[in-house]
Formats: sequence, C-alpha cells, structure tokens
Amino acid sequence: MRTLCADLGGTRLKLAAVENGVVLENEVSPIETNSGMENVLSNLAERCRAMMERHPGEWRGLGIAFPGILDEATRHVIHCSGKYAGADRIDLPEWARAALGLEMKLVNDARAAIIGEINYGSAAGETDAVMLILGTGIGTAAVCQGRVYRGKHGMAGLLGGHFSIAYDNGRRCICGGTGCLEAYAGTWALKELAEDPDYDFARLERDYLAGDAKARRLFDIQTKALGAGAVSLVHAFDAETVIFSGGGSRFSALIEAAERYVLDHAWTPWGKLKFITAAHPEDSVVLGLHSLFVHHVC
Ligand SMILES: [Zn+2]
Repeated sequence: MRTLCADLGGTRLKLAAVENGVVLENEVSPIETNSGMENVLSNLAERCRAMMERHPGEWRGLGIAFPGILDEATRHVIHCSGKYAGADRIDLPEWARAALGLEMKLVNDARAAIIGEINYGSAAGETDAVMLILGTGIGTAAVCQGRVYRGKHGMAGLLGGHFSIAYDNGRRCICGGTGCLEAYAGTWALKELAEDPDYDFARLERDYLAGDAKARRLFDIQTKALGAGAVSLVHAFDAETVIFSGGGSRFSALIEAAERYVLDHAWTPWGKLKFITAAHPEDSVVLGLHSLFVHHVC
C-alpha cells in the first residue's frame, strides 16, 4: 500500500513516497506560501507526478498536511495563519482527483506528527500522549485513550504553544496573546531573546556546551518555558507520555532539563510520566499522513 504524503510547511514543501510505513523517497523543496494557491498546487501536482513516475505501481492516495486549522472530516482548509491565502476556497479533494486521479486526505501538521510517531515511530503503541514540536514555533497535538483529540472546531490539542505561562509582563506573542509558551521557546522567540536574527537551537546547543553565559541564560528560559507548557498539556489532556519532536528536540541536554522540570511540577497521582524523543523527527509528519489511509490511531 503506497501513498504520496505532502507536508506544506511555512517555507518548505516536503513530499514523500511511503509504502507500508517505509519512506521510499523524501524530497524537500522551497515553497512560496503566498504565491497563490494555483501556483502552489500546480507545483505540488508536478512534483507528485514526477515522484509517481519514479516509483511505478499503484497509489492509494495523497495525504496533505497544513500548518493551520482544518476541517479534516470534509477535507477543507479553514485558516492557515496568513499562509496559503485562498486555500479555504479550494475544493482540494476535487483538485486531487482531477490533477492526479487520487483520493486526498487532510490533517494538521502537528497532528500528523503525533499520528506518525504513534503508528510507525518512537512512540509506537502509546494511547495517551501529548507532543511538543520544537521548530519556528511550538506545535502541539494530543492523543487521548487511543484517539486523536480534534474538538468541535478542529483546534483541540493544537494550541499548546499558545498556553500562557507568564501573564504578568509576559512577552507579546504572534497570536495576539501575552506570555505564550511560543513567545519564549521555539526559534522565532529565541532569535528575539538573543537579539540575533541568526540564533537557533544549533547555536544555542554549541554555545551552551561551551559554557557561554548568554546561552546559559537562554537555556534556562527555554527549559522553564517548555517544561511549564508540557505540564499544562499533561494536565489538560490526562497524558501519560510526553513526546518531543522537531529540530530543537535534537538538543538532548535541553530536552532532559525540560523533562526534569515536568517531573518536578506535574501532578500525576496515577504514576510516573514517560518521555519520548522522536528518533527521526523529519519523517513523523509524512508517516502520519500515510497512516490516514491505513491505521486505527488517526
Ligand atoms: Zn500565542
């Protein structure tokens, strides 16, 4: 069973061919998210056709992940935070049928990541878990009693990055809120806090391990922000497991410090929390998209 899996991100399109949970090919290309949906979709269709030609055989469908709020049941985009303007006016299932002859399924990217990790990745078999994805912002998703949490408006579980962790003199967030987790952790906040547009998790790790004072201060902020956000997610969704993913999760000292914070602060009278870091964070979204056509946890 083979599927095409397209992760339409903030700056990159990741397209993968996945067969029975194995990534056959993973292609990453830059994407102009505001070049108009017609251009985005014609670029996507062209890449899909080329990938299908490189792997001849039967294709079950096309899964698409967007960084936004979606109606996953009717397969329509509702809101994409200023990116992919006009996506809400396009009948994507009809487009996929006409352009590629494939059934299309749609899911939020953070939700795809937790589905992928549970069905095929490092969190195999987990039934009650929350995920924090450390990237430009902090993406989150939740699975409760073996079911992905979606909510009435498709937003449940996704807004952990906008849990307020500092109401008093909190930093202004891009969502309009104050003191959000994302306004302290994640790359966009890290650059602002470091007052350096080139600062990122790799730089933080290098400088921190070298004993740099600024990096130690930023590390402390990141640890507490991620820890406080994860505690709120655990409390909100009755999670037994916290999964870290995204590029920032490769900084193991940061993740371990955040885990210690969570263990010190979370109220879990049922027992001890478990922590998992995705082994291959670059594959979790595409494997989640593949799961939509195969698995029970989705
Ligand atoms: Zn926010």
